[in-house]
Amino acid sequence: MAIVGAGYAGLNAALELVERHGAEVAVLEAGQPGWGASGRNGGFAVPGGAKLSRAAMTRRFGADATAEWAGFERDAIERVRDNLERYAIDAEPGPEGELCLAHSPRAAKALAAEAETEAEDGTETQWLPPEALAERGLKAAGTHGGLLHPVGFSLHPLAYVRGLARAAQAAGVQLHGDSPVTSLGRSGGDWVLHTARGQITAPRVLIATNGYSDEALPPFLSGRILPIISAILVTRPLSPAELSSQGWRSRVMACDSRRVLHYFRLLPCGRFLFGGRGGVSARPAALAEFHSVLRADFDAMFPAFAAAETAHYWSGLICMTGNFTPFCAEVPGMPGLFAALGWHGNGVAAASEGGRRIAAALAGKPNPAPAITQVTPRRMPLPALRRPFLHAGMQAARLLDRLG
Ligand SMILES: Cc1cc2nc3c(=O)[nH]c(=O)nc-3n(C[C@H](O)[C@H](O)[C@H](O)COP(=O)(O)OP(=O)(O)OC[C@H]3O[C@@H](n4cnc5c(N)ncnc54)[C@H](O)[C@@H]3O)c2cc1C
Repeated sequence: MAIVGAGYAGLNAALELVERHGAEVAVLEAGQPGWGASGRNGGFAVPGGAKLSRAAMTRRFGADATAEWAGFERDAIERVRDNLERYAIDAEPGPEGELCLAHSPRAAKALAAEAETEAEDGTETQWLPPEALAERGLKAAGTHGGLLHPVGFSLHPLAYVRGLARAAQAAGVQLHGDSPVTSLGRSGGDWVLHTARGQITAPRVLIATNGYSDEALPPFLSGRILPIISAILVTRPLSPAELSSQGWRSRVMACDSRRVLHYFRLLPCGRFLFGGRGGVSARPAALAEFHSVLRADFDAMFPAFAAAETAHYWSGLICMTGNFTPFCAEVPGMPGLFAALGWHGNGVAAASEGGRRIAAALAGKPNPAPAITQVTPRRMPLPALRRPFLHAGMQAARLLDRLG
């Protein structure tokens, strides 16, 4: 078997194929393992992976498929936990739970109502009014309470992916870095993957390239996916005085309720990580502009940290699909060619579990990935205009966020 891409999806698929299905596996990676989003994300191992609300998912796919997806999200968190333990990966796991801070009174009302509905369903979600947030050391300016979901934990993303790569090699996976696959062809019943340094032939292939996908590899992807930039700034270590002046002491993972959301957490080393999504251009000038906007948003929420300069800033690519759900199945019309991608900016857990599930299908068994991930992604309308449309959509969403 051959796998293209050594991120969470590709490496988990490789491990599962070797350990559970006794397959011979080669992974081809354009950079080094974890070079893509898996080595540079915010480290939130949380539920997610699709960009549809539960209600929209139920309308489109039905209640059973939606419940199956919810089960996948839970399994995905446990998968990450199990990987860390099984392969003895020290990825600095943080405290359980994720807090969503309301950015407006209207958002606070909606989140408080969500807490009530979830309580009726038996989820131990907690609505924390501003005083309760302050007591727990979770004070950010311009917020109106927060919803604490007790699920998920943070980790060091690069340590996690490097640990997976080590485990894969120890299990016998042939892991080839600096090996971008330049084309894919057929020879007899097999697939042939070409690289500048040679070629590999395999009966089954997994494309696990997510936001770094070449839409011609295979052409099926063309117009069905959209890479989006997510960027992170990390401050110098904060002093105890700065932390107490802001009133933020907790290491819990947090995000806000904005349409163009921010995600943030205090790192074990005392630095603060603050991230945001929505960029469409990787030109240096556009990335610098993105940093200015992100930094201004950070300073507004955490005024006591304003003197802590940005020590590190980087960006990476996440992947949307035309269905707003991941795709984890055989590529239509291409027997033996599979893809696992489209985690919508939430792939620490989902890509890990998605990689594990799709391995069974590569091994010739029924595909155990959730039904909603086996639906062929739609081609987006006017693919050539995807980026300008996205840019306009982001601008409009930012404006709406400012209005509450
Ligand atoms: C800044 C940022 C912050 C994020 N924060 C979070 C977070 O906190 N929580 C969360 O759940 N998710 C987060 N994400 C998303 C998460 O990182 C991704 O969903 C996840 O890492 C996807 O894993 P993957 O294995 O599918 O893809 P990737 O890790 O992107 O790996 C794809 C790999 O394919 C390789 N590749 C591409 N083309 C080829 C080719 N032709 N030949 C060989 N190799 C190729 C690339 O080099 C790359 O290494 C974030 C993403 C970014 C960019």
